[in-house]
Amino acid sequence: MRYAVHVSFVAVLVLGLVASRQGLDVLPAGAAQAPGEGPQTPEPSALGQVGFEPPTLPPFRRSVEGQPGIDRRADLHTIVPDRPRIEITEYDVEEGDTLFGIAEKYGLKPETVLWGNYDVLLDDPHTLRPGQTLNILPVDGTLYKWNEGDGLNGVAKFFGVSAEDIINWPGNNLGPDTDPTTPGILAGTALVIPGGRRQLVTWSAPRITRSNPGVAKILGAGACGALYDGPVGSGSFVWPASNHYLSGFDYSSVHPGIDIAGRAGDPISASDNGVVVYAGWNDWGYGLVVVVDHGNGWQTLYAHLSQVSVSCGAGVYQGSTTVGLIGCTGNCSGPHLHFEMMSDAYGKVNPWNFLP
Ligand SMILES: [Zn+2]
Repeated sequence: MRYAVHVSFVAVLVLGLVASRQGLDVLPAGAAQAPGEGPQTPEPSALGQVGFEPPTLPPFRRSVEGQPGIDRRADLHTIVPDRPRIEITEYDVEEGDTLFGIAEKYGLKPETVLWGNYDVLLDDPHTLRPGQTLNILPVDGTLYKWNEGDGLNGVAKFFGVSAEDIINWPGNNLGPDTDPTTPGILAGTALVIPGGRRQLVTWSAPRITRSNPGVAKILGAGACGALYDGPVGSGSFVWPASNHYLSGFDYSSVHPGIDIAGRAGDPISASDNGVVVYAGWNDWGYGLVVVVDHGNGWQTLYAHLSQVSVSCGAGVYQGSTTVGLIGCTGNCSGPHLHFEMMSDAYGKVNPWNFLP
């Protein structure tokens, strides 16, 4: 355990850069600019060199004074401090940890763990690995690394809170008379944004359909060019793998699909009839991916494949076309099928509600 505050930066700015460079439309309108109409936006790699000295914290202790330490293997219940935490602490990821378990341990939402660690986790629970050091925010919310030229009102608005919410958080060490326009915050300072929220960046954010396969260009080499029409789905779905149970994450707000158990090389079949609108590598951690557009407002996605067995524009048929083989490409810690279902009407949905 390292004791100094880990000044990891978030992300908004980095995301803004990524988003603006790659045309990724995942941040709220104006979001990339909102927190800093500042002068020149520094390159992400330069952000760590803005001369920010992390404050020193008293040693982090896992147990409350006078009580025995909590054996995390025997008892995974919440760590409840005897008084509210106000500072960011750190957690070293151990074998067997999950994002959800860590969040629960500290009484936080899983989103808060992602929002506090964009540079480590990239908003993706699959990226969690033993040995990583995570920022644990004292409350649910987001973490923001201050940039030259930022204003508190803009930062607050971006995260859906008020400037007062940020000023009043004791761990931010801002006086009650802080002027939101010229708050005098040193560039590089990590601010806790209590109650702050932002959209999670999921690589598959753009909806890929047979009429717009080009939107997937930002996702990686698997993007397809213009497509002709093809088979249309029945509107009902079948399991895409022979196993009908999970190995890994279930569907949740931070994991918009299910991890279906399987061995490397097991065949994956189309969950309904449709046309392949993405086939190949994905740069955002999903490895080899196939996306099928069912032509009726639905798309399904198959990720971490060891092999893609179809190509762009191919017609696929429910339960009979093998779209690929189970694998562990991209951010993956063991072979499984990451399966997502998307609907024009509902966005990403819980596949459990639609699989037989
Ligand atoms: Zn998954």
